Amino acid sequence: MFEVRTACILRYHNRSKPDGRLRCGEDQELSRRILLCSVDGMRPDAIEAAGAPLFSRLIQEGSATLEAQTVMPSCTLPCHTSMLRGVDTARHGITSNQFQPLVRPVPSLLDLARGAGLRTGAFYNWEPLRDLADPGSVSVSYCWGDCHSHDADQHVADAAIDSFRRQDLQATFLYFGWVDEAGHKYGWMSEPYLEAVRGADACLTRVLEELEALGRLDELTLLLLSDHGGHARTHGTDSPEDITIPWILWGDGIRPGVRITESVRIYDTCVTLSHLLGLAARPEWDGQVIESGLIA
Ligand SMILES: [Zn+2]
Repeated sequence: MFEVRTACILRYHNRSKPDGRLRCGEDQELSRRILLCSVDGMRPDAIEAAGAPLFSRLIQEGSATLEAQTVMPSCTLPCHTSMLRGVDTARHGITSNQFQPLVRPVPSLLDLARGAGLRTGAFYNWEPLRDLADPGSVSVSYCWGDCHSHDADQHVADAAIDSFRRQDLQATFLYFGWVDEAGHKYGWMSEPYLEAVRGADACLTRVLEELEALGRLDELTLLLLSDHGGHARTHGTDSPEDITIPWILWGDGIRPGVRITESVRIYDTCVTLSHLLGLAARPEWDGQVIESGLIA
């Protein structure tokens, strides 16, 4: 297991603040990298129930809330659209898992990052997520065509690891879909569901260990979250089990050991991560920077 290095946090703390702007250009070089990891359907209380070692550690060592809120309907595509495009459902208009073109397009976090010249990546195993960035916005994209087993999550992790070895991706979206599938198949909080959570934990562990081996972990900021929770064998309602999600910041620029008490919504993700990258948030985005978790 990789070692935490607080030196990186101190280094960020002591250097002059970024001015909040970057000049656009090809392959902009930044010291900081962001990794947005979505574990589909992972309830906050599943982390402790599963005994997921990495996810538990990220909560302890990072700034986290286990009471963040997703949007309605609490379904995968509407929630991920809010996560990556920074607005509530009423604004983006994606109200089911059936994709339709946005009536009023909203730029995504990956659009912003690539537009600023950052190298971007997207690795996932639920195919409709291909629409979370505009054509031309993803430097490396990988989709494994099903998420019906732990193996499918492993394929995603393998692809991300392979790409990290080939190039220094600076803004990456990583998605594991088996937890949600296990919830539908066996029931939320069932033992097979919790086993799937441990599987996602192991996959992300491998990715972070690779980044450490590549010498990039010190300057990584990770946001681990889910798109929605679930109950029985379904989700989509406004029940607390469905709409409450974990939202866990960890790494460079993040205060260690903080329990975030302010209200966090899934569409705070874009403004917070763009702030961490030193990029101006798009004016279309809703949400707020969750400053209590950040080193000022
Ligand atoms: Zn989902």
